Amino acid sequence: MNNIIIDGKSIAAKLREEIKNEVNQLDKKPGLAVILVGENPASQVYVRNKIKATEDVGMISFERKMNENSTKEDIEAVIKELNKDDNIHGILLQLPLPPHLSEVQEELVQMIKPEKDVDGLTTINAGKLFLGMNDGLVPCTPQGSMRLIKSVKQNLTGLNAVVIGRSNLFGKPMAQLLLKENCTVTTAHSKTKNIAKICQQADILVAAVGRNKMVKKDWVKEGAIVIDVGINRVEIDGKSKLEGDVDFEGVKSKVSAITPVPGGVGPMTIACLLDNTLKAYKG
Ligand code: NAP
Repeated sequence: MNNIIIDGKSIAAKLREEIKNEVNQLDKKPGLAVILVGENPASQVYVRNKIKATEDVGMISFERKMNENSTKEDIEAVIKELNKDDNIHGILLQLPLPPHLSEVQEELVQMIKPEKDVDGLTTINAGKLFLGMNDGLVPCTPQGSMRLIKSVKQNLTGLNAVVIGRSNLFGKPMAQLLLKENCTVTTAHSKTKNIAKICQQADILVAAVGRNKMVKKDWVKEGAIVIDVGINRVEIDGKSKLEGDVDFEGVKSKVSAITPVPGGVGPMTIACLLDNTLKAYKG
């Protein structure tokens, strides 16, 4: 058993470096626009990190800060303008939108031109992934998770893969990526029966739920690759800490490879966003 702790931080840094080298060769720089509506503190931090990462690789960042009270029409107008702008190759609508817009969130995401949809959330990009086409933009976190799996095992043909979670943002696209790699894929969710037994069959186990330490040692097959996508903020001894969906300490001696939280999947998301922006630029 190798018990590899997959170092997402350094794998992401290497990918960012490769992107930077490629951007350096370009005369016109790729542009990424981020639309931030309102004052959600977590979203503000994410957007700040994305802007910094964009500029660090030599791309141009366009931030569109919009008022908390913006209407659907206000946001629509900005998306239309960015869709038309030739200096902008990627558009990202930071989610979630403020509560009064939650019902139109999906509609607004779908207004982004698929060629600029660097989050991979439009029906065109989701459809291309579903059909196994290679020219779509793949959502960043599943793409990053697949890169981490590939960092420890190249050929996934015939392996049993279990994804816990079926969100449009992560679980569904992750299952499609694993299927494309010839895995036999099971998607588990909140209504799944005997989830521990299903997970015990997994050569690759991916957890994306948002429940602290849900995946226990006895859920994990000996020698499995475990990818922990969960981000759960917990209080331990009065200190705030991030934990994943997997009981890392309990599980790590049993696996061939596992991602830590933090420092696993997290850093890959932004690196893959930059990669998608470069892909969108190249067309
Ligand atoms: P989500 O939309 O809330 O989806 C959670 C999924 O977990 C749902 O499909 C839900 O099933 C399933 N679930 C809930 N309770 C369950 C249970 N007891 N047993 C089995 N499945 C259960 O969340 P998400 O956006 O996919 O994100 C999942 C986690 O990943 C969160 O912690 C999030 O913070 C993290 N995340 C991290 C990154 C990163 O960059 N590292 C990016 C995205 C997300 P139902 O469909 O039946 O409700």
